[in-house]
Amino acid sequence: MKRALFPGSFDPITNGHENIISRAIPLFDEIVIGVGINSEKQYMFSIEERIKFIEKNFENHSKIKVTPYKGLTIEYCKSIKAQFILRGLRSLSDFEYEKSIADINIELSGIDTVFLFTSPKTSFIRSSLVRELIRNNGNYKSLIPSSVNFSSK
Ligand code: ADP
Repeated sequence: MKRALFPGSFDPITNGHENIISRAIPLFDEIVIGVGINSEKQYMFSIEERIKFIEKNFENHSKIKVTPYKGLTIEYCKSIKAQFILRGLRSLSDFEYEKSIADINIELSGIDTVFLFTSPKTSFIRSSLVRELIRNNGNYKSLIPSSVNFSSK
């Protein structure tokens, strides 16, 4: 069983995340989307909301599981028996940051990180930009899946 963990904040899930997950489905038997809980981060959406948006979006995909997680990513991978970490790359700055983490992770645990380049159509999307648009009544709808449904923020 080839299992990958896709860790992130998903605050909220965007078309960029969705693009990476959809393209990774043929590569793995199971993809666990690990929705991070970090007490030092201020989230716009609660852990329940962030999970619900992702579950709803992938409700017809049996290979996709969604769980909350805390602590070190490699420890969580070991606990769920994931041999791979999945991450998306948008830019050179993502690359530098992601490389340093992937290097530590393989050194400490032997767990490999698999990277997919985002599609050009979604490479500019980041959750922080979506949150900024939500806060200021901007038009964010084309940047996120329709499963991200909420009354007001
Ligand atoms: P984190 O807080 O770990 O950065 P995010 O939810 O922002 O969590 O991102 C989770 C993963 O999704 C990361 O690998 C990130 O590079 C990737 N990602 C975020 N936005 C995009 C996008 N527009 N296209 C492709 N990958 C993306």
